[in-house]
Amino acid sequence: MEAASRLGIEVVVGSEHRSALAKLMEDRQLRLDFHDVERSTQRIVAFAKGHPLNAVVAVDDTGTLLAASAAEALGLAHNPVDAVEAARDKARMRQRFQAAGLLTPGFRTVDPDEDPASVAALVHFPCVVKPLDLSGSQGVVKADDADGFPGVLQRVRAIVAACHRDGVRPAVLVEDFIAGDEVAVEALLRGGELDVLAIFDKPDPLNGPFFEETIYVTPSRLTTERQAEIRETTARAARALGLTDGPIHAELRINDRGIWMLELAARSIGGLCSRTLRFGSGISLEELILRHAAGLPMPAHDREQRSAGVMMLPIPTDGRLKVVAGQEGARKVPGVDGLVITIPPGEQLVPLPEGDRYLGFMFARADSPAAVEAALRQAHAELRIVTDG
Ligand code: ADP
Repeated sequence: MEAASRLGIEVVVGSEHRSALAKLMEDRQLRLDFHDVERSTQRIVAFAKGHPLNAVVAVDDTGTLLAASAAEALGLAHNPVDAVEAARDKARMRQRFQAAGLLTPGFRTVDPDEDPASVAALVHFPCVVKPLDLSGSQGVVKADDADGFPGVLQRVRAIVAACHRDGVRPAVLVEDFIAGDEVAVEALLRGGELDVLAIFDKPDPLNGPFFEETIYVTPSRLTTERQAEIRETTARAARALGLTDGPIHAELRINDRGIWMLELAARSIGGLCSRTLRFGSGISLEELILRHAAGLPMPAHDREQRSAGVMMLPIPTDGRLKVVAGQEGARKVPGVDGLVITIPPGEQLVPLPEGDRYLGFMFARADSPAAVEAALRQAHAELRIVTDG
């Protein structure tokens, strides 16, 4: 909303929930069921008859399919619906990566009635068991061997079932665990061309059993050649899915066999993480996304010179949140330029793999990626999560 108002773009909010902006927005909001893409597309098309729309932009994973479908129905430039469907389904994504000759983990889908011990006999260990359509590492769990596999499969199935309250019991994905360093790529597709906006290193090892994201730092400390390979691999992956327009967020792993495509989502970086990024003369990521969507001119948008990073604050244990102590001390750490606790006191904390959110976000800027990382670690050490359960 901030980016839109800076650009003078009028926004209509389509949401599954009654918007907090409801009173302010009056006739500029639509209640939509994101899962009923057909009906919601019809509602957007009907709305657009009275209020013409120039673009439909999803702000997170759940809205990508509806945004593509509505844009198609309105004749607006957007990702093909089929490409967005493939990006939303981790098994279809793997198939397309494989068909395009990208390095991607070996995988199989496991139906709800398949017997865990029989599946274990077919799997390479260590493996990763994950839902087909969740995000934020929810339900992503590593299994080290056949003995541990049934327990992991059962746990992931339960997480998936809890997210599908309609009684549907979807399949899950089991894939080879790929050891290596991980990076995230933030980019904007413009007419099929990939404009890479930032490559983030993830300096904390992500070896399971759960895959909690913590620190993202940019620019990457990898060599220029490696970074060029990462750009190229990400562009190939986007083409393999058929995506053409709008933001993408990709995760890749690097080891001595090469660059592995783990995942590519047709959306921008999640939570508040985009605050890490500033381009050109102080332009935000959201502004770039809206400029592209609305067909406005694209100004120079190299990322700022300083190194920047974010820490997604992990939730270490269960309990009802009382307070996050030490915030003042954390904010005083040189380099730290923001700390937002996004879970209000009184709410239940749920760690991964069952949980679906972080405690909050901490931001830092400094002269080098190492200094950013050090500032985030030092500030995190100041925080103490107090719960009453
Ligand atoms: P989500 O969409 O929920 O974030 P991902 O498939 O991206 O799920 O998995 C989340 C994280 O789990 C990845 O960023 C990575 O660290 C780890 N991970 C997932 N699959 C694998 C794999 N096959 N090998 C190694 N790590 C993996």
